[in-house]
Amino acid sequence: MQVVASEFRKRGGHVEEPRRVTDTEVVRIHDADHVSFFGESAGRAAAFDADTFTSPGTYDAVYLAAGAAVSAVDHVLDSGSGARAFALVRPPGHHAERNRAMGFCFFNNIAIAAAHARARGLARVAIVDYDVHHGNGTQWSFYDDPSVLFISSHQYPYYPGTGAAADIGAGQGKGFTVNLPLAAGATDADYELAYAKVALPILTKFRPELILISAGFDAHRDDPLAGMRLTGPYFGHLTSAIVTVADQCCDGRVVAITEGGYDLTGLAASLRASIRALEGEGASFAAPTGESPRGEATIKAVTPYLADHWKL
Ligand code: ZN
Repeated sequence: MQVVASEFRKRGGHVEEPRRVTDTEVVRIHDADHVSFFGESAGRAAAFDADTFTSPGTYDAVYLAAGAAVSAVDHVLDSGSGARAFALVRPPGHHAERNRAMGFCFFNNIAIAAAHARARGLARVAIVDYDVHHGNGTQWSFYDDPSVLFISSHQYPYYPGTGAAADIGAGQGKGFTVNLPLAAGATDADYELAYAKVALPILTKFRPELILISAGFDAHRDDPLAGMRLTGPYFGHLTSAIVTVADQCCDGRVVAITEGGYDLTGLAASLRASIRALEGEGASFAAPTGESPRGEATIKAVTPYLADHWKL
């Protein structure tokens, strides 16, 4: 990620070192108990679950990752028309729940960023999560909250097990969680159809004042963890489609925050394409062609649940 950031700087892009998130910003999403329990891991190796470990440096990295997400929101809100930012962070955040670290995640960077945008007075914030895993922590953070739209596309069934088509929010938040579960093996064309028919129309109708992207690249075809078949350029195309909605709804304001991505070559290619898309070079990424049986199955599965809330 440092190589990609330095390429961006060489093109004249502005790169900033992150600040630490404050505990006040973190407790908008996490319990104080979770913050203090996590704090006990500072400077040492600890295990939180079967795949969520710390090294001595994790504690500081977590504070800086969430701080970068919050700073990216501030940058975009304070920089005027069309401002966009990408928080290149590790560890990821979208699995972290109110009171629980899991799935390599300790603090939920994107949920903390969304809560920060709301605290700054925005009425409607949208989160699009294209990481291959369902963003359970983000979903639960805003499940009954109609002011934060959460849209997730993910391999299903798969880790962490949540993200079914029927899960659309609760109470006042009903309809403001949109899950797009996709069968393993989904291609660029499958994603394209699901986004074109469901995700992007809902995102547009919601009229967000800011769009946040959980930019995980583990749906890449070479990723060793998951079973999707997306290409690097498609991440540019998809990110560009989200930018187009932002141009229509919210003065182009987009903040992307990295999540997973475990094939380093695929990660770099996908990240490069997504950064180019945020820079406004969407036209260089061709739309995919071909059959999309998995995308069609997903649309069929989700439409009955969402039809009462959105005209699709
Ligand atoms: Zn992931």
